[in-house]
Amino acid sequence: MVAKQTVSFLTKRFREVGLEPDSRHGQNFLIDMNLLNLLVDSGNIESNDLVLEIGTGTGSLTSLMAPRAAHVITVEIDTHLHQLAREELEEFDNITMVQNDALRNKNNFSPIVLSTIKEKFESIPNCRFKLVANLPYNVATPIISNLLLTEILPTSMTVTIQKELADRIVAVPRTKDYSALSIWMQSLCDCRIVRVLGPSVFWPRPKVHSAIIHLEHSLEKRSRIHDVPFYHEFVRSLFFHRRKFLRSVVISSFKGQLDKPDVDDVLDRLELGPQTRAEELPVERILELSEGMRLKLQEVESR
Ligand code: SAH
Repeated sequence: MVAKQTVSFLTKRFREVGLEPDSRHGQNFLIDMNLLNLLVDSGNIESNDLVLEIGTGTGSLTSLMAPRAAHVITVEIDTHLHQLAREELEEFDNITMVQNDALRNKNNFSPIVLSTIKEKFESIPNCRFKLVANLPYNVATPIISNLLLTEILPTSMTVTIQKELADRIVAVPRTKDYSALSIWMQSLCDCRIVRVLGPSVFWPRPKVHSAIIHLEHSLEKRSRIHDVPFYHEFVRSLFFHRRKFLRSVVISSFKGQLDKPDVDDVLDRLELGPQTRAEELPVERILELSEGMRLKLQEVESR
């Protein structure tokens, strides 16, 4: 039986077990069946896919995904919800439920989650790994950005997040939303907003609008980056001081490693003048700059 995710189902189920939704954990449940289905459909789940869900909640999305996937790993921080979902999902034999914080800290996934993914991934022939989730909004950014740095890389990520965050991910240069996150995600993924969702499709209603976003990981894009962790750090450092000129930002982030003439040499060769700011540069230019800096570091180290 598919758990019916309606307000009456949820309030009844929560009352039975004496629970209240916890806003600290971003507990806003999607109560529109059509949208749950849209989220699953947009995830393009196939029979040899390993699906990761962060935020099991009551298990409603999980129960829609399990019949389509080879296996679903679902992670829930809240022990009570984990227990409740366990009862709802009893009938499925291809779901692994993990009761844990999905993140060890802002920059790293929980080792338990990572080892569960690895073990399952290796046991499924021709497996593809996908994230499909109605994410807890307070940890949405670290989840989607860090999953692109883990050992088992996702083919795609299809998630519900705050609309504001979705706008930042797809932002173009010279706009206020264009940020390290936009560049990082667009450097590795084709990013597309599938649908904007109002607060009324969740229980309880969040204060903000949301969006379903589909991020298709592109190996072609990834192949342009020679050292992915270096690139990640470099992109982040470019936006620490948003209003500063690019030159001084780059000089300060390579302080102790590169002298000013070395930085100027890279900037000159790429024709990045003294008035340039990072927020004006399209992704391709940032990629060139990062690669220029990486090679310059190698050159200096071998002097
Ligand atoms: N997928 C469900 C629930 C979404 S609400 C649905 O669509 O209805 C988000 C869920 O994530 C909540 O159940 C919350 O307890 C859980 N959660 C919040 N922070 C988490 C974390 N750091 N790790 C794992 N789960 C978390």
